[in-house]
Amino acid sequence: MKKIVTRFAPSPTGTLHIGGVRTALFNYVYAKQNDGLFLIRIEDTDKERSSKEFEKNILDNLSSIGLNPDKKPINQSERNEIYIKASKQLIESGKAYWCDCSPETLDEMRKEQIASGKKPMYDGRSRNLGLEQSEKTVLRLATPEDGDIVVNDIIRGEIIFKNSELDDLILLRSDGSPTYHLCNVVDDFEQGVTSVIRGEDHISNTPRQIHIQNALGYPQLEYAHLPLVLGTDKKRLSKRHAATSLEEYREEGYLDSAIINTLARLGWSKGDNEIFYLDDLIKDFNIKEVQKAGAIFDITKLDWANSQHLANLSLDEFKSHLRPFLLKNDIDIENHRYVDLLINAMRSSDNTLKGIAKSLEPYYKNIKSYDNRAIDKFLSDNNILIDIKELLLNLEDWDVDSIDRILKTYQTDNNLPVPKVNQPIRIALTGSTKSPSLGFTLCILGKDLSIKRIEELINFIGS
Ligand code: GLU
Repeated sequence: MKKIVTRFAPSPTGTLHIGGVRTALFNYVYAKQNDGLFLIRIEDTDKERSSKEFEKNILDNLSSIGLNPDKKPINQSERNEIYIKASKQLIESGKAYWCDCSPETLDEMRKEQIASGKKPMYDGRSRNLGLEQSEKTVLRLATPEDGDIVVNDIIRGEIIFKNSELDDLILLRSDGSPTYHLCNVVDDFEQGVTSVIRGEDHISNTPRQIHIQNALGYPQLEYAHLPLVLGTDKKRLSKRHAATSLEEYREEGYLDSAIINTLARLGWSKGDNEIFYLDDLIKDFNIKEVQKAGAIFDITKLDWANSQHLANLSLDEFKSHLRPFLLKNDIDIENHRYVDLLINAMRSSDNTLKGIAKSLEPYYKNIKSYDNRAIDKFLSDNNILIDIKELLLNLEDWDVDSIDRILKTYQTDNNLPVPKVNQPIRIALTGSTKSPSLGFTLCILGKDLSIKRIEELINFIGS
């Protein structure tokens, strides 16, 4: 059997989009599970919209998320000669011809076709004129007028296109530059690609590209068109719904493995399994099981996957992922007496590393502000804070058990529910009502700092 070769062929007109990461991922996984090759091709023929900066962003992000190509990526902008050579072959074999129709002629043609109820398309009028190349001519493919193109899409099944509905595609522009479809087809052949896995928006390009392949005598490719990635309102995912670039998710503190996990589930599932790492995908993914219907990207699923992937890290791994997020807030993770105890207690305090870093701030820095809603809810007066401060001041053994004991005794003696006593102290210690068990929090902050913070809140409420 032929070695499977897949490719991801981004146009560098923006940063790497999460929909693009999914396309790259499925190409990567399909290649790896078939002992094949995964390649990257930069489709940068549109000079106006392409940039080296976006290209770098795409390549760096793919590589850092672990989707490394098996060969050096190629750039279409550097391969003009190859496309010109292919176009010559088409001219020589009579499968392409020069056309000098002016924009006005084409416009008139369209109008007439629309007026007579026909589909507007180029009518092939220059096909048999035997024109030579000039600065006014474009090269067109002589597309078969009858018959069908049948695409056997792995995901979508058989799709039939009528040749009569496809016009003679432009291969070279009047300035002699090759068009997108020609480059795409020639490169798939030159790169030895066997399998095209790409977004559903490319389906209508497929019969056109197959015509070029046929005219050049290239072997057939297999196709899998992936369902669109949609927002929760079922419209195509855009910045309106959520961040769309991979970088933004990383900056929020989602693990690469959780992003991969969530993207793999966009249009694919395996029973009730929810958690997949890249290695699992290589074992379990089946391109034939990808659904046709649009796949909804729901951030709450990413949040959940992230919490699971974070929980699966060892403490050391977790710390090394968290470190940069704390550093952004000028916090050195090691700069705490009980760092490991603290991080262990706080590692599930939020779904993202950024959120966890934020909840850790009170353990490293002074409290900058209090959660006002929590204050309104739990601190109509200072009395409890004042009582507890006194009790804590007199406590000699500063350990979790002793602290818990005096808190408990105070609650029972005064017949108070737990939150009435604990939440005001939490607010004093951390600024909010979020913290691990209160005894632990007091213990880890130490006696002096705990009392100082309770005093600060007493003064704040008093003022
Ligand atoms: N360059 C195209 C894009 O970015 C992909 C073309 C293809 O995969 O065939 O959408």
